[in-house]
Parts: sequence; C-alpha cells; structure tokens
Amino acid sequence: MAFHAASGTADLLPERAHDFHLIERAAQQVFGLYGYQQIATPAFEQTDVFVRGIGQATDVVGKEMYYVFSQDAATKLVEKTALKADQRLALRPEGTAGVVRAAVQHNLVPPGAAPARLWYAGPMFRHERQQKGRYRQFHQIGVEFLGAAEASADAEVVLMLMRFFVACGIPAEAMRLYLNSMGDDDCRPAYRAQVRNYILAHSGTLCPECQRRADTNPLRAFDCKNPDCAAVMADAPRITDALCPSCAEHYAQVKALLVTEGLAFEENPRLVRGLDYYTRTVFEVQVDAGLGAQNAIGGGGRYDKLMEEFGGKPTPGLGFAVGLERIVLVLDELRVARGVPPATEVFVAGVVGAAASGTASVAGAAGAGATAASSTAAASAQDTKLRATVFSTAEALRVAGIRTQLDHQGRSLKSQLKLADKLGVCHCVIIGPEELAVGEVVLRNMQSHAERRVPLQKLPEILVEELRSG
Ligand code: AMP
Repeated sequence: MAFHAASGTADLLPERAHDFHLIERAAQQVFGLYGYQQIATPAFEQTDVFVRGIGQATDVVGKEMYYVFSQDAATKLVEKTALKADQRLALRPEGTAGVVRAAVQHNLVPPGAAPARLWYAGPMFRHERQQKGRYRQFHQIGVEFLGAAEASADAEVVLMLMRFFVACGIPAEAMRLYLNSMGDDDCRPAYRAQVRNYILAHSGTLCPECQRRADTNPLRAFDCKNPDCAAVMADAPRITDALCPSCAEHYAQVKALLVTEGLAFEENPRLVRGLDYYTRTVFEVQVDAGLGAQNAIGGGGRYDKLMEEFGGKPTPGLGFAVGLERIVLVLDELRVARGVPPATEVFVAGVVGAAASGTASVAGAAGAGATAASSTAAASAQDTKLRATVFSTAEALRVAGIRTQLDHQGRSLKSQLKLADKLGVCHCVIIGPEELAVGEVVLRNMQSHAERRVPLQKLPEILVEELRSG
C-alpha cells in the first residue's frame, strides 16, 4: 500500500524548505529592526484557548478545528464519559490565541512595563476545503505587540508588515494594503445591531448561512463569497460611519501616519476579517498574482480585549499573521529569483581497493579510476585505514567550517569524482595509499583540474584560505 501525505497537507521538499528559511530570515531581520523577539508556543492547546480567543461563532473554531485526543481521552469519548478541560485539546488554527495565553501565563507584560514585542513561526491547522493557496496544514509567521494602545503602534506594525513582504522579494507595487476600523465596545454593538437589521431586512436575497449569521456573527456576512450576498452587503451600513469619536480619531491618526511615511493603502469598510477578537484597526494585504481566490497573503489588527479574555489585566494589543505557502506562490508567479541552498564546497575521495588493482598513487589516477576491492587481508586492512582517514579528514574540514561530503559506499575514484562534479564542489581532496603512507593528500581544483600534494595536517587551514580567496 502506497502512503501519501494527508489531504490538504504537503511535504516541504528541500527547495521549498529553503524558501521558507529565507522568509524566516527576512522576518528575523525586519522584525529585529523593530525590537521583536521570537516565541514558540505548542502546536496544540486546550480547546478552550481557541474558543475563548477566536470565538465560537467563527468558521475557524465552529467548523475547521482539528481535535486531539490521547488514547485514554479517545476511549472516554467512545464511552461517552465527560472529558476534563485539559483532555479537550485542539491543534492550533492560528497563532495569536496561544501567544496571548502564554503572555498571560508568564506575565510577559506586567503593569508599567514596556510593551512585549513577540514574533512566531510555525504550522497551523484548519479543516478547510482545499484549493490553491488554501491547505489544512499551512505555515504562518506572525507578530504580537502587547501593551501599546496608541495609533502610532498600529501604524508601526503595518509599516513593518509591508517592509517584511518587500524583504521577502514581493515588489511593493504587486501588493494592495486594505485598512479598516472595527470600532470598540462603545460603538461596535450598535453597528452590529444595524447590520443585523439590514440582514434581516434582506434575508430573502441572502444565502442561508448569512441569514443564520444575523444572530451569531452578522459582520461575517461581509466575507461571504456568494455573489448575491456580496451585492446586498455592498450597500450595508458602513462601520466607518458608525465609529465613536475616539475610534474615529484613532483611525484618522493611523491613516495620517501611514500617509506621512508614504505608504499606499485603500480603505475598505467591508474588511471585517474572520476572527472575533479584533477591535479598531484591521488590515489585510492582497496580491493579484498567482493565488486565484485565495489572494490574501497576510492580515491582522488590534485586539484590545483579548488579554482580559485569558484572565490577564486589561492590556491593549495588536498583531498580524502571514501565510508562507502563499508568499512562495507569489514569488514563483512573479519569478522572483531566490538564493539557492549553500552548496557542498569540498569532496573527500578515497582510493579504495587501490592495493589490489596496483594503482598505488593518486596522481594521474583520477581519470583511470580504481577498481574492485582487494581480497587480500593486507589490502583490506589498508582500505579500512584509508576509509577511516577519509572519514576523519571530512570531519576535520567540517570542524573548520567547510561544507564537506564523502562517499560511504566504496565507489571507484572515477565515480566519486563524478559525484563531486555533480555536487558542484570547488575542491576535491583525494587520498590514496601512497599519500596516506607519507601523511599527504592530493588537492584537486575542480575548475582548473590542477592538482598538488599538501600535508594532511595542514589541509583544513589551506582549504579555508583557498575558499576565502575565492
Ligand atoms: P488568518 O489567520 O485567517 O488571518 O490568515 C492570515 C494569513 O494566513 C492569510 O492571509 C493567509 O496568507 C494565510 N492562511 C490562512 N489560512 C490559510 C490556509 N488554509 N492555507 C494557506 N494559508 C492560509
């Protein structure tokens, strides 16, 4: 039976893994400029962390969560025995709830302290309908800025997000930044009621899901992809007309700072985002290239009530998350050149079986090649010693910081050199019985094919020098 990766998941093959590595490096570099430090929370948490943090009425929690059961908990479940809170676990569908839970648990933002600036990277899990750019296990990088309520914090986070995308290689002109304010506890309840009434008044034209949303989460109707719903919701009341004076002022300040910094954005009063915890500023970055319907590469917003939800002191916060698979799809589509993984620099080849074949010296043997292994005891002992020297020479070069490979399978010298060529190494170190006897090796430049003998002891420093001088 042939196994495949589970539906909606993908193996990260070396080239992709390298792309992800470059994106993480861009994150570390750009977020580092703004004083962020990395945090890593567990890939699964108590289900209640997500229910509390993200909201029961969201698609993510209501429909898409993967539950995790230990053997014991699964048995209880089958027996219909109630599970305790710490037995009800789920794979994280996003990063914010876990980071905020950790910030409360470890008191990362004590009263009076400077805000905490945290970033994370890792896999997230949602049981969504799979399509291009939408997977069931996907990878996000995100930041959380905990403890600053001011509009300048929002502007800083948005600017950092756009700098990060540019550092990943996405040209600024390929992206569109959408901005909105969701209001706060003072103005949003009245606005929600307005939208609810609007939905009820138009329920004949809306899909059953949006009709249900009138009571559970009316603002989510703005996200519905059904064209009839989209047409109706285009004329729905706008949050920007319903903001209280302090939310309106906050939003105006964010926009003014972005304008001052020359960052282009579009206001989108229908941008509500799928998670329940947002207050005030929300934003999303979209691209046209390569993603089809799933054209959002990142988004986020402010969540001033979330720390309290987790039992923390009232602490404002905001953050964003970006999707790595989608960034890579965009880079591919725009044909953005990326660096390749660092190549092996040196290959250490051994002339094994040389005693039997009579090819005792390496010099000039490269083309001829050495043949089958010796059958005599003496030759076999010599081979063992030679292979041990090849092995420890390769280790010594790695200790000196040189990316080195060797052959483990007793290939002929000819095929070892072929392999070295394929790996694209700059130098080959060749060790034969004669060289071994006098403590020397042959150093072959793979470009010029020039060969010289050098003392084995001095090889690491000679090679470091050669590689440094290019
Ligand atoms: P969200 O946590 O839903 O705000 O998503 C933030 C970003 O994560 C999105 O803009 C996407 O780039 C990415 N993302 C969300 N869901 C998926 C998914 N199912 N597959 C791939 N990427 C996703």
